[in-house]
Amino acid sequence: MSCEHPVTAEYLYPSDTVVLDLYDQSDGGIGIRFAVPCPDCDTTLEMEAPVDSIGKTELEIPIEDETDQYDD
Ligand SMILES: [Zn+2]
Repeated sequence: MSCEHPVTAEYLYPSDTVVLDLYDQSDGGIGIRFAVPCPDCDTTLEMEAPVDSIGKTELEIPIEDETDQYDD
């Protein structure tokens, strides 16, 4: 099954994104491979991107699952 839908970031959500791999690129940089569902047809799309910025964040990893607040 293939998907030809144009995908824009506007309809992609971090909560739907799964990081598949982080790897060293041949040029010494870091690459990231991740999967997101197509907003139009739910086909899982695999994307790859080079990491071109690394900085500090205040986020704590792992990020707390937002659904936890509904547990009780
Ligand atoms: Zn699609």
